[in-house]
Amino acid sequence: MDLSDADQGSLAEVKHVILVLSGKGGVGKSTMTTEIALALRHAGKKVGILDVDLCGPSIPRMLCVGRPEVHQCDSGWVPVYVDSSKSLALMSIGFLLENPDDAVVWRGPKKTALIGQFVSDVAWGELDYLLVDTPPGTSDEHLSVVENLRKHKLDGAILVTTPQAVSTGDVRREITFCKKIGLRILGLVENMSGFVCPHCSECSNIFSKGGGEDLAKLTGSPFLGCVPLDPQLSSSVENGKDFIQAFPESATFAAIN
Ligand code: ADP
Repeated sequence: MDLSDADQGSLAEVKHVILVLSGKGGVGKSTMTTEIALALRHAGKKVGILDVDLCGPSIPRMLCVGRPEVHQCDSGWVPVYVDSSKSLALMSIGFLLENPDDAVVWRGPKKTALIGQFVSDVAWGELDYLLVDTPPGTSDEHLSVVENLRKHKLDGAILVTTPQAVSTGDVRREITFCKKIGLRILGLVENMSGFVCPHCSECSNIFSKGGGEDLAKLTGSPFLGCVPLDPQLSSSVENGKDFIQAFPESATFAAIN
């Protein structure tokens, strides 16, 4: 979509906007969003993450930013910068909850209004990539995110699955959703794909392997790669520090360029 800078509002200086979707919760969508953001930042890009996962805004914890006070400037809410070089910016619904244990029990219109505001009122400034971490599934919130972003700019979606059929089945519905609404699928990631023993380095396929890749082939979607279950990754996510980079940088670029 060709829009003037004025139409694009706070996304005027953002070059690419990418949604991260998953069919169900707990498959590592937020972890992969963070991983992709870190891979891009590692490659010298300026990256933003918009966390609209109203069910469980976990990215602030993963990036160890706590619950900072969100400030406003003339052009909107100022995102929180994860590092002093300001190469990774974050805005999360989690910042707006009074208590971190609060559940978001708003009805649809209130959620939709907040998502609309999130999309148009964050002063991102200049970014190479904005990644949007969405709630699991396909809901009104997804439609709202897509509709709001489309007014500005939206490149497409990266889908995250685990190898098991119960997860790939949900992602298959997600693929149908993307096709129905004309959202480009940039690629599919298979997370928790085998477990590499830290002692002997042997890989055990605890769940199964290849379900994500098979689904990608079947649906004609690009396959971005597998990320194994990694205790080190889990611990860095839990503690919000020393995040290891498990996601292949090359796959990120293959998807996005
Ligand atoms: P989702 O966003 O899909 O709900 P999360 O990213 O919050 O899922 O991940 C759920 C849990 O699984 C987190 O505790 C995270 O640390 C863990 N996890 C995700 N991917 C991996 C992985 N590849 N290796 C180890 N732990 C992982």
